[in-house]
Amino acid sequence: MTKICVLAGDGIGPEIVAQALRVLAKVGERFGRSFEIENALIGGCAIDATGGPLPQETVDKCRASDAVLLGAVGGPKWDDLDPAIRPEKGLLGIRKELVLFANLRPAKLFSELRDACYLRPDITAKGLDVMVVRELTGGIYFGEPRGEELREGKRVGWNTMIYHEDEVRRIGVVAFEAARKRGKKVCSVDKANVLDVSRVWRAVMREVAAQYPDVEFSEMYVDNAAMQLVRDPSQFDVMVTGNLFGDILSDEAAAITGSIGMLPSASLGSGGPGLYEPIHGSAPDIAGQNKANPLATILSISMMLRHSLGMAEEADAVDAAVEKTLAQDYRTGDIMQPGAIPVGCKEMADAVLANI
Ligand code: NAD
Repeated sequence: MTKICVLAGDGIGPEIVAQALRVLAKVGERFGRSFEIENALIGGCAIDATGGPLPQETVDKCRASDAVLLGAVGGPKWDDLDPAIRPEKGLLGIRKELVLFANLRPAKLFSELRDACYLRPDITAKGLDVMVVRELTGGIYFGEPRGEELREGKRVGWNTMIYHEDEVRRIGVVAFEAARKRGKKVCSVDKANVLDVSRVWRAVMREVAAQYPDVEFSEMYVDNAAMQLVRDPSQFDVMVTGNLFGDILSDEAAAITGSIGMLPSASLGSGGPGLYEPIHGSAPDIAGQNKANPLATILSISMMLRHSLGMAEEADAVDAAVEKTLAQDYRTGDIMQPGAIPVGCKEMADAVLANI
């Protein structure tokens, strides 16, 4: 029995997770697998129920599972809360508790959705299949000291971008290992022309690269990388970078594909359960209206099957079903195209189920 801890969260989280779990159940039926689902609270719904975004019970349930599926957290209802107990703290907290230091975000352009891509056809003709490997538990999001105060009557805020060489090395290894299973290219992204922390990053990443002579290695400043992603994304296979730059670049890579409603992600540590979630947020503007695209969450199930549960065949079946559903022209609003069949969140999942 495989144990999955499900953190549906806020906004569209419960809708998309419910549909993804139907797909998981169908996979179980077809391949003779049984999945035990344990639900737990995170984010705004956890604040409402317990006063904090990450109850200890949630952490315990996640630790006792083989993998964690997360919907999304946050929404306007909680925007004005003290930053220390905002919904996003639950997300940062669970990553920290499970020591999920590596975030793998594939940004792939499905051929059926080529028209939705923001780039010119001559650029996308060369292909877009980038994996951004982002360091997740260090860097400026966690660095101390941090704070805000009044200095001579003026507001001042500060954070610290800090990386220990061990943190750089372990994310480097994840990136090079990922590249070995893909296009055998790693580009390390930093700001070594300005930041001391990036010079340490760069030195350590070169040491890791030396261990992988079969993988082509390059380095790029983050400003150039942001530009190259839109000029010619086909030059990239795996991009590895720190927490802040990775946050931005992975969203950029995702956005140019045309729909953040299509993209899954995996957060992995060394041992222990991995966490799988769509890259988009809780989309409060469409929550509760059966408008959300469930495919990113369904593809997160596929990544979970592949990376945490050792069920590659099952994962292939989910991927193939999603591709077939797109080929059958089913589209939620976010990926709508002229002449396509408009469907809601549940109907999109129905179509995927029928294709498994
Ligand atoms: P968002 O990703 O929630 O929404 C951005 C836009 O994309 C919206 O127009 C939304 O309707 C659309 N969209 C997102 N997912 C979609 C889907 N599956 N199908 C169709 N359309 C979709 O980002 P935002 O508006 O900046 O943030 C909303 C809330 O989500 C905020 O509270 C934010 O803090 C939170 N957030 C959470 C996560 C997470 O849980 N991992 C990530 C980002 C933002």
